[in-house]
Amino acid sequence: MATVDDARREIPGGWVAVTDGVVSAVGGPGDQRPEAARTIDARGCLVTPGLVNTHHHLYQNLTRAFAPALTGGLFDWLVTLYPLWARLDEEAAYVSAYVGLTELALAGCTTSTDHLYVHPRGAGDLITAEVTAARDLGMRFHPTRGSMSLSVKDGGLPPDSVVQDDDEILADSQRLVEAHHDRSPTAMTRIALAPCSPFSVSTSLMTRTAELAAALDVRLHTHLAETQDEDEFCLATFGRRPVDYLADVGWMSDRVWLAHVVWPSPEEITRLGAARVGAAHCPSSNMILGSGLAPVAELRAAGAPVGLGVDGSSSADSASLWLEARTAMLQGKLRHGAAAMSARDALEIATRGGAACLGRAGEIGELSVGACGDLVVWPLEGVRFAGALSDPVEAWLRCGPVAARHTVVGGRLVVEDGAPVHAGLDEQLAVHRRVSTAMQAAL
Ligand SMILES: [Zn+2]
Repeated sequence: MATVDDARREIPGGWVAVTDGVVSAVGGPGDQRPEAARTIDARGCLVTPGLVNTHHHLYQNLTRAFAPALTGGLFDWLVTLYPLWARLDEEAAYVSAYVGLTELALAGCTTSTDHLYVHPRGAGDLITAEVTAARDLGMRFHPTRGSMSLSVKDGGLPPDSVVQDDDEILADSQRLVEAHHDRSPTAMTRIALAPCSPFSVSTSLMTRTAELAAALDVRLHTHLAETQDEDEFCLATFGRRPVDYLADVGWMSDRVWLAHVVWPSPEEITRLGAARVGAAHCPSSNMILGSGLAPVAELRAAGAPVGLGVDGSSSADSASLWLEARTAMLQGKLRHGAAAMSARDALEIATRGGAACLGRAGEIGELSVGACGDLVVWPLEGVRFAGALSDPVEAWLRCGPVAARHTVVGGRLVVEDGAPVHAGLDEQLAVHRRVSTAMQAAL
């Protein structure tokens, strides 16, 4: 068992007890185990804290691997897909979240964010629809109230039908925080505020969103420094690089975590680290869109919390945090040599790093007494692990591919023996096929 606790304890033959959704004891083979109503056998397996997904766009699984958008960079890809996403409604938000969160749980995720920034006129309450899906599945969920306010007519990228005005966005943000945000340490739902990116919202919306987040004491999220196109856009539009712009609009704060952060300069890395601005590292997405290799080791060394994100289902297409952890490890070695970025570093980013990005250090992302009872049992058996005898944590990420045998959230199984525990997935997949077929016919 790899606890990823403060001492990074690894306990061969260890056990963890969960009571009322919270870790109540952790021990080794010689320690007295508490009485348990239910015991899960993890022999031959690695037990880790549940993985934390810090960046996603669940609704995009409705347009996954969409043929007309497979070879463009970020901006082309967005412009092709916006008209399809203009068809989002509550049914689409629910079913995409249900299927997407199930996919995440199967690969060991127990807490996920979501960044839903397309709110077409008349679409209904999309965030509440996905909160309902997460509750139905028992997944810990941090949706962000995304927003876009600059359409093509204002020099932005999205069509007019999917943007809203600033007052409407801020009022709805406040409503969602009041409706769903739970401040307790075992919270299943928390809301953050998330303008999509500097090229899709106004400067005043960035500033006012930061003020509202401070007033409501919730976190802030956006995309930043994803591509070199964005540097050029920010210089041309604001006369500043993205990180300077971020500082100007009041976002250099430990309330903030940013998706991607591929292109900060060395000086900007220092500033982000000093301000404890978090980064959601999305290695598959950054490769598939040709965005670049993020400076993960440099950001961590500067003091920035770094977590992992699968990113949107139609850019990265797959949604396995195990795969993102492995890819982060491979990218780390590619950048800095074989001794850099071990499996343990990747596991730490995927757990504690994600918890820190979400403002939940000590609550999730580690197996220690008092933390949420979120854990994963990974099988290290069979053909894929034959001969991998000396280091179970390195084996976990170097061999495989591997999916979760059991995924436990707050002491409750979400995945058991490799399958979702909730009946209803087949029905939801049928709805998903109908909704995504209609959406893809919109082009
Ligand atoms: Zn994204």
